[in-house]
Amino acid sequence: MPPVTIASLYRHGVRQLLVHCNGKREGDWPCRHQAALPIERFSSDECLREIEQRCRCTACGWRRADLRPDYSRQQAIWRRVDNAAVTFFDVHLRQNLGASRR
Ligand SMILES: [Zn+2]
Repeated sequence: MPPVTIASLYRHGVRQLLVHCNGKREGDWPCRHQAALPIERFSSDECLREIEQRCRCTACGWRRADLRPDYSRQQAIWRRVDNAAVTFFDVHLRQNLGASRR
C-alpha cells in the first residue's frame, strides 16, 4: 500500500485523525485512551504511518497508538474538543524524531 499522506487525506475531506491507545495500564487493563488530532498540526507531506509511530499516550506512556483518519460526519462535534484533545496525545514533531524523551 502506498503511504497515506496528510495532503491526500485533506483532499478527501478529512480534517482530523483519531488516535486510539492499544497500551495497557496497571493490572493489565486496556488503556483505551483516545483523542482527535486536528490535521493542521501536521505538514502535508507527512504520512500516517510516520505520525502513528510518533504518538505516545499521555495516559499510559505506551507507543502503541492506532491512528486512523476520521471520515465521519461527526467532525463538527469532535472539533469542539480539539484543543483539549491534542494535549491527550504527545505527538513528537518531525524535528524531534530520534530524540527520545523519558
Ligand atoms: Zn494509553
